[in-house]
Amino acid sequence: MSLIVFGSIAFDHIITPQADSGKIVGGAAFYAAIAAANFVDNIKLLSVIGNDFPQAELDFLTSRHIAYDGVQKVTDKPSFFWKGSYHKDMNNRDSLDTQLNALLDFKATVPDNYQDCTYLLLGNLDPTLQLKVIEQLATRPKLIALDTMNFWMEIALDNLKKVLQKIDLLIINESEAKELSGENNLTKAAKKIRAMGPVYLIIKKGEHGALLFYEDKIFATSALVIENIFDPTGAGDTFAGALMGYIAQHQSHDFETLKAAMVAGSAVASFCTEKFGATRLKEIDRTHINQRIQELKQLTAYTI
Ligand code: AMP
Repeated sequence: MSLIVFGSIAFDHIITPQADSGKIVGGAAFYAAIAAANFVDNIKLLSVIGNDFPQAELDFLTSRHIAYDGVQKVTDKPSFFWKGSYHKDMNNRDSLDTQLNALLDFKATVPDNYQDCTYLLLGNLDPTLQLKVIEQLATRPKLIALDTMNFWMEIALDNLKKVLQKIDLLIINESEAKELSGENNLTKAAKKIRAMGPVYLIIKKGEHGALLFYEDKIFATSALVIENIFDPTGAGDTFAGALMGYIAQHQSHDFETLKAAMVAGSAVASFCTEKFGATRLKEIDRTHINQRIQELKQLTAYTI
C-alpha cells in the first residue's frame, strides 16, 4: 500500500495584515504529504524542486517516512515561487508574484517504485499533468482524489473535464464549484459536477467547514472556530492530505469512512492556520490531532 501525493513544492512569501513570512517552504504537495504522514507511513511525493531547495527540508520529509524519489531535481533553475498577500478578512488574497521556474520543466514521471500506489492525491496543477500521472500507473489506485482551481477552469476546461472522468473524489472550494457547474445552489452544483465523473465531491467552505456529496447523501462538517487565523495558506492542501492519509490508514473509502476522514482533515487543517507555512504542522502529532477531533465533536454534538 502507498499513497502518492502529487503537486507543487515551492518557496512562498506570505504577507498577512499582521506579519510577513519572508521566503519559506510551501507548495500544495508539501503541505498535503506532511498532513497525510500523521496517518500512514508509506507516502510517496511526486513533484519538482529547483537548485535552491534546502536539504534539511528533504531530511524532514524522510524523518516523517515521506519518500521523495519522484521529486525531480532541476539543477539550473530555482524552485517554483509564489507570493501572496491576504486582505484584512483573511478569506481573500491577491497573488503578487508567481514564478514557475523548475515547474516549467516538470515531466511528472512516475518512478517504478511508485507503482504500488493504492491511493492517489492529485494536487492543484495543470490537468494535463494530473492526467499523465494517472495514465502512467499500471494498476488503477483504489481511490483517486483531485484538487483544482478556477485558473484551470478558465484556461484548460477541456483537459480538466478529461481528468474528472478518471477520478473518484473531487475536492474544491465553493466558488470553484459554482464556476465549474454554472450553478449557485451547491446541491444543484454537486449534481452537475458528479455527472462529470467523480462519484464523491467535497466542497470546502473555508471557515464554515465542508460538504460531502455522494449519491443522494450529503454530510456537513464544521471547521474549528478559531479566534486568530494567523496564515490560512495551505489549509486546503492540508485538509486533502490528512483526508487521504486517514483513508489510506483505514484502507476504505465508503461514505462513513469519508465522513470521518473529513473530520480528521478539518482537525489537521486547523493547525495549519496557526503559524506561517507548514511550521505548525511540523510540530504536531496524533495526540494533538485526536484532541482537536474531540473539540470538533463537542462543537457539533447536541441532544434533541
Ligand atoms: P492554498 O492556500 O491551499 O491555495 O495553497 C497554497 C500553496 O499553493 C502555496 O504553498 C503555493 O506555493 C502553492 N501555489 C500557489 N500558486 C500555485 C500554482 N499556480 N501552481 C501550483 N501551486 C501553487
